[in-house]
Amino acid sequence: MLYRNLGRSGLQISALSFGSWITFGNQIEDNTSEDLMKMAYDAGINFFDNAEVYAAGKSEIVMGQILKKMGWSRDTYAVSSKVFFGIGAQLPMQKGLNRKHVTEACHQALERLQVDYLDLYLCHRPDKLTPIEETVWSMHNLIVQGKVLYWGTSEWSGVEIMEAHRIAAQHHLIGPVVEQPQYNLFTRQKVEVEFDQIYRNVGLGTTIWSPLASGLLTGKYNGVTERNVRLKRLELNWLAERNLIEENLRKVAELQALALEIGTSLPRMSIAWCLMNPNVSTAILGASQTAQLEENLKSLDDLDKLTPEVLERIEEIVQNKPKKPVF
Ligand code: NDP
Repeated sequence: MLYRNLGRSGLQISALSFGSWITFGNQIEDNTSEDLMKMAYDAGINFFDNAEVYAAGKSEIVMGQILKKMGWSRDTYAVSSKVFFGIGAQLPMQKGLNRKHVTEACHQALERLQVDYLDLYLCHRPDKLTPIEETVWSMHNLIVQGKVLYWGTSEWSGVEIMEAHRIAAQHHLIGPVVEQPQYNLFTRQKVEVEFDQIYRNVGLGTTIWSPLASGLLTGKYNGVTERNVRLKRLELNWLAERNLIEENLRKVAELQALALEIGTSLPRMSIAWCLMNPNVSTAILGASQTAQLEENLKSLDDLDKLTPEVLERIEEIVQNKPKKPVF
């Protein structure tokens, strides 16, 4: 395993990490979740990602039961939760980034995950109805209380992240260290351009999500697809409509041919491509079967295969390199 500092923080997390969205407490049986966590941990993965909203809290319950059963020493892994969407009833106080919900959701996540503190606590989306100052204070206070170690954001804009930093600096509070954005061969703008100055100015770390674009970048949607796969799930129709478009499938076929040519598979090449970006602290893997995780973990062996020439050929296929400002 390879370890990278989470931004400017001293926390060294594994370059591959493991998350539970859609799968834990929902798509897969708990014993499969256990096998996946064990395989991840044994491979050196030390960061597990979760959120209050995943499977309406069940994902955290399942992960908590596994962590307890495994009995891994608490100094060998980090676990996250994310707050914003709330669970279920959706009464006014049960969602958002106001002090009340940020605090309640933290207490509930600690209970479900059966841990004394969250290593990472992320604001799952920006909350346009709560002043950022209130959220920064809430996160700072949770850190001071020992309930959270590091905090961050997910799918915030560069401007919102810097506003949180400005407030933190003004009041001598602990600011965010990490952003969790989508990043893969089809979604690149934020990670490659928008956050560019933030990496340099405040040392932002990134725990990137959907490195395989929900499985599209495995090639499994080119041709006949089984039924029990992410983008065939009824509730994820919106995601399928966004991803399963002709242009993407054509690019996937070309990327797959290139992966075979350089002696690897498309999922391995796609994950390795994410890690070639030094501003990616960790790529969060998802898997519904152990065979998938086993395959994806091998992506670390493929970093050497992504030579400048191969990277250029990837660019020629995807044709979506974000433009950086020029002077
Ligand atoms: P991916 O893009 O890697 O998609 C994972 C899914 O793709 C698997 O569940 C599986 O789905 C399929 N898959 C993975 N590997 C293979 C393989 N080798 N062969 C065939 N199919 C494969 O990652 P996720 O979208 O799951 O994101 C990873 C994590 O990031 C999440 O678990 C979550 O923790 C986090 N996340 C955060 C978000 C945020 O807003 N902050 C949003 C989304 C995710 P299947 O078998 O069902 O087809």
